[in-house]
Amino acid sequence: MQNIFIYKSPEEIDYFRKAGRLAAKVLDEACKRAFVGVSTWDLDVFAENWILDHGAIPTFKGYLGFPCTLCTSVNHEVVHGIPHKNRILQAGDIISIDVGVTLKAKIDGKETNFVGDNAKTVPVGATADKAIKLIADTKASLEAGIEQCVAGKYISDIAKAIEKVARKDNYGLVEEFGGHGIGPNYHTAPFIPNFSSYFKMYPDCKIEEGMVLAIEPMLNLGLGAIRKLKDNWTIITKDNKLSAHYEHSVLVTAEGPEILTVLE
Ligand code: MG
Repeated sequence: MQNIFIYKSPEEIDYFRKAGRLAAKVLDEACKRAFVGVSTWDLDVFAENWILDHGAIPTFKGYLGFPCTLCTSVNHEVVHGIPHKNRILQAGDIISIDVGVTLKAKIDGKETNFVGDNAKTVPVGATADKAIKLIADTKASLEAGIEQCVAGKYISDIAKAIEKVARKDNYGLVEEFGGHGIGPNYHTAPFIPNFSSYFKMYPDCKIEEGMVLAIEPMLNLGLGAIRKLKDNWTIITKDNKLSAHYEHSVLVTAEGPEILTVLE
């Protein structure tokens, strides 16, 4: 069982804000470079250098053995796509880019990590209307989930809010992956599913002030079913239909949710 971490000291929160802003900026810059003819490898090299140049560490590189700085998931790829030199972006593609940034800092003389984690899906060149709508609706489901990141509410409230937006237009919801708490070793409890029937089988968790939560809906144009490719990382939709992914890291404050992964 993973721990739940609570962050209330202004110093810790300040580091989370810094990590979040770096994660938001490098994500924005990587998305701006997602042009026709660019490889997902090019995007990864850019992001890794950018993060290192800003005194931070790419969270994903080496995490559970993941080889790169970005997850780049194109079209029917849902999450955890591995950047590759021969994966060249084409007009009409959509690409989901996920990036984590770790800032190391000393708190009370002890070195610890502060992670900002965020993702978004962007179109490459002229893209079909249904893909653009999928992206917009995935973003809307993230926003609905973030609104529920309030002390005293429950993780199931986040799941319900995301699911409500997704079900409205009959999108497939990925059940095997979801959001998560953020602690010094990146992923931690609680798991944050994007569907509410999860809680028929597993206990709910009350949201507390000081939690840092990564909220990350994945919506599919077809069914929610997924499978993993032989690279042991890339998750794709079983029906090969498009998938979109949005994520923010959110601090639960006494005043409500504060999105940490924002552009300054
Ligand atoms: Mg995440």
